[in-house]
Amino acid sequence: SHAKRKGWQYSIYRTGMEKEARSTYILENDLYHSLSRQEMFLMYQPFVYGGEGKTIGMEALLRWNHSKKGLIPPSTFIPMAENNGFINTLGRWVLQQVCKEIGPVLYKNPTWTVAVNISSQQLEGEHFINELWEVVQSNGVAPQQLELEITERTTMQPDLMLPILHKLKELGFRISLDDFGTGYSSLSQLKELPVDTLKIDRSFIDDINDRKTNIAIVKTIIEAAENLNMKVIAEGIEKEEQARELLTLQCCYFQGYYYSIPKKINEFSWGKESS
Ligand code: C2E
Ligand code: MG
Ligand code: MG
Ligand code: MG
Repeated sequence: SHAKRKGWQYSIYRTGMEKEARSTYILENDLYHSLSRQEMFLMYQPFVYGGEGKTIGMEALLRWNHSKKGLIPPSTFIPMAENNGFINTLGRWVLQQVCKEIGPVLYKNPTWTVAVNISSQQLEGEHFINELWEVVQSNGVAPQQLELEITERTTMQPDLMLPILHKLKELGFRISLDDFGTGYSSLSQLKELPVDTLKIDRSFIDDINDRKTNIAIVKTIIEAAENLNMKVIAEGIEKEEQARELLTLQCCYFQGYYYSIPKKINEFSWGKESS
């Protein structure tokens, strides 16, 4: 009976695995068709400044509205696209779409920037820089108004990435380091990076009002950024107290649900005429 039971558990286990593998396979296949089926779209979440929460730009966030399954979160489909190489096609579409949608808004608000998340596979692509240049030029977007958000993982291959990042800086693009503090890059490595902005990861902001250790970490990041002439944005602000605490630490750039959830461009007053 012991052996029988084991076999039974094994078959449940195996069916479960097969099911999962099968649904991953189907989703992956659907992902390849998502663009031609026009299931992808962008949401934008503002960056704000100071106690008054004045808008200074926005981040583009990709959404997949699957025809049968509804909204699939980026945490599911971005890693999938990174694994199967589709991220290059997807990323190209994102940059094109952002420039098309936000170009007129940036033109009207010359001090604003739009941030776009870029996977390391995209940066490595041999045509990335040429295509990026082509897309900003053809949409009349100033490179100074486009901020490329990379993660610490990207900076873990400095020999490969540093020349690319320097080239992007030369062309005038801004670079920001997303989810800062969650990876393994040390503060001393930071000075080698041509980065304009540090985005402090939400995990340090979540309980900043209750945990002294988080205040200490955030303070250290802010001081380092100041010494390196980098701007600091705190992500994931959900409550006024969090912003207030950060203001006392001299961090005055924010992003989070407290100010605005991500929305479609024409749901913003500034996005009305341009779509
Ligand atoms: P991220 O770049 O760090 O983006 C911030 C994420 O935090 C977004 O999730 C946003 O909706 C969420 N968020 C913003 N404010 C708050 C808040 O106050 N509280 C909480 N709990 N969450 C908040 P989202 O849109 O699901 O995106 C997840 C991740 O997917 C992004 O993290 C980014 O790494 C990736 N991603 C999104 N769009 C793209 C894209 O076009 N290309 C690439 N390569 N990655 C993307
Ligand atoms: Mg980001
Ligand atoms: Mg982030
Ligand atoms: Mg994050």
